[in-house]
Formats: sequence, structure tokens, C-alpha cells
Amino acid sequence: MRRIYLDHNATTPLSGEVFEAMVPYLRDEWGNPSSIHWAGRAPKKAIEDARERVSAFINATPQEIIFTSSGTEGDNHAIKGIAFSKRDKGNHIITTKVEHPAVLNTCKYLSKNGFEITYLGVDGDGLIDLDELKGSITPRTILITVMFANNETGVIFPIKEIGEIAKEHGITFHTDAVQAAGKIPIDVRNLGVDLLTISGHKIYGPKGVGALFVRKGVRLVPLIHGGHHERNRRGGTENVPGIVGLGKACEIAMRDMEEETAHLRSLRDRLERGLMERIPHVKLNGHREKRLPNTTNLSFEFVEGESLLLSMDMQGIAASSGSACTSGSLEPSHVLVAMGLKHEVSHGSVRFSLGKDNTVEDIDFVIETIPPIVERMRSMSPLYVQAEK
Ligand code: PLP
Repeated sequence: MRRIYLDHNATTPLSGEVFEAMVPYLRDEWGNPSSIHWAGRAPKKAIEDARERVSAFINATPQEIIFTSSGTEGDNHAIKGIAFSKRDKGNHIITTKVEHPAVLNTCKYLSKNGFEITYLGVDGDGLIDLDELKGSITPRTILITVMFANNETGVIFPIKEIGEIAKEHGITFHTDAVQAAGKIPIDVRNLGVDLLTISGHKIYGPKGVGALFVRKGVRLVPLIHGGHHERNRRGGTENVPGIVGLGKACEIAMRDMEEETAHLRSLRDRLERGLMERIPHVKLNGHREKRLPNTTNLSFEFVEGESLLLSMDMQGIAASSGSACTSGSLEPSHVLVAMGLKHEVSHGSVRFSLGKDNTVEDIDFVIETIPPIVERMRSMSPLYVQAEK
């Protein structure tokens, strides 16, 4: 069976070049990078080379990079690290309703421990209102954390403008750039962010490794206490092969991004057009222009998204929905609900996220395969039959 992977916002395949770069550190250079003898020297150097690569990728300095175990850890470290280090200055944090659970649940935890959280809403396009952001700042606000790009819709937030607002008020600004990294250019100097999270497995690197940018001068309480690793900022013997892989993935993303963006955008638009032309009652979720080049989130009205995904899977097509199956009931996506979609419409939504190995043939296969599935499912829906009358 043909297998077509359109779920790159969930994870990406490991790049062959990245794999090759990692192998020596899995097999030959197994030493502890903290050792001062011969076995530690090559792993230590590999970590510092990777740090250079990651920092170049976002225009930071190597000293501003902390390696982490994931995007989730980076988000936790940034948010809790600022919350605990600025506790004497205030207890108010501003975020949005459409963040990844790595941010939302960290904020929820802090809200149970004496912090106050403001969750900014979004409009029908999935964008926040900067006046609402300004209006929610108080003298006790210590942190603004707003994602760079949304994982479900691909909507890109105005990070530079938010950075300016944060700076004007002397508030620390963190952005979760896990989905933006590798898809759009990131320049921490130009954006004025203080903290920024990335993750290896979303950029054709390995899973279980990420990086947190911490601007020079920003004080952050460690999340993981231990030895003197990462200049006392994160304890734990380093994941050397993972870090090497992340460094290589960043180098490749920098090299290939421009070319890839054009390729992804043209395939994404072909997919979107193809499906919308062939299937009635399909709605795009998220701002048409201000979004990642690889992502399209479509609502197929009168269709249950999970059933559509299962039928697509039977044809070898992998995509995803925003719904999370929790305690036996299908919760609609918190992102789409925040955008004002009715529950039944958000249940019929599917996220297609494309990647560098997708081809025109893949997209054309998908465009041919999905319409009959949707038609069959709708023919069994009394609501659809009624609406068509
Ligand atoms: N933030 C965003 C926006 C994400 O999409 C993800 C992963 O889906 C994460 C954070 C978590 O990253 P990781 O899987 O490396 O923990």
C-alpha cells in the first residue's frame, strides 16, 4: 500500500544526514563529556559544535543555548524558571488560549501555586488582539509567553510586535517556536525575545532533545537540579548523540529552508485547492496568509474527523485532528473552539502538515482519495441529507 505522511507537525522522519552525524556518538565516542580524560574530549567538542550550530540557526550566541530533553522541557524551564526567579517582582503571567499543552498545563500548575494567569483569546482567524495584550498588563506581570506558530492551524503570531510591547513594560518574553523552527526564519536579535523553545523531532532531528534560548542577562531558576552541566543551568549527563543530531538538523534547516518553503507552499496550496474544489462545505481554519507554509487545517462539515482519519489511514494517508481522546469522550480541539468554531464543525477538522519528502504525486493521490470517502460518510449523515434538501 502507498504510504503518504502528512503529519509533520506531529513529528518528522529523521534526516539521513542527521542520522549519519549521530552514529559516531552512539557507537565510538561513548565517553562522558564531563570527563577530563581522552574519552570525554570528542563528545565534549561535539556538544560545543552543536551549540554553535543551534545558536547560528536563531542568531543567538552559543552561551545563550541550553540543551533540553524536549520542547516540553524547554517550555517548562522557561515559564517556571522565570516564575520562580521573578516571584518577588510579581505573580502575573500572560499567555493565550491556543498554546500547546506544554505551556497551558505549566501555567495551570503555576495557577495552583499562587500565580495568576491571563489567557488571551483569539479571533476567527486564530490571531490575538495586541490591544487586549496591552490592556492585560499589570504592574505584577512578570512574563508573556505566546507561541510563534500554532501547531494545529499553522497561524503565525506577531512575535516582533509582542517583543516590543514586553520590552516597553520591562516584562520577560518567551515564545514556543517548536513549530516555527525550520519552517520560517527565526532571528532572536531582531525579534526581541528573551526565551525561545525549539525541539529536535519537528525539524528532521531526533526525538528527546531540544534547546532553550536564554538571552544573556536573563536569570532563570533551573528546572532540573544536578551537576554542573550546561553551566549549572540544567543537571544531567548530556544526550550527546541527540544534541549532535539537533545541531545537524539546525544546520540543514538553515541551508534548505528557502527552497523547501517554496516547495511546501506550492504542494500545500495544491492540496487545499484540490480538496476545496472537489468537496462542498469545506472551510479553512486559520488566517490564509499568516501561517506556516506546510500546514492547512480544514473542516469537513457533516463529517466526523476521527472517522475520516481512520478511512484515510486505510488508504495509507496519515494526517491528524486536533481532538484529543480523553477519558473516552472526544474533546473538540481547544484551538478551534477558541477560534469560535461550533463543536460539530471542529469535530470535522483535519490537519494536514506537509514535509520535504512529499511529492506532487502524493498530493494528487490524496486529492483523488478523500472526496469519495467524504461523500460516503455524508450520505450516511441525516444532518447532511437534511441540509442538502
Ligand atoms: N510546543 C508545540 C507548539 C508543539 O507542537 C509541541 C509538540 O507537538 C511541543 C511544544 C512539545 O515538543 P516535544 O514533543 O519536543 O516535547
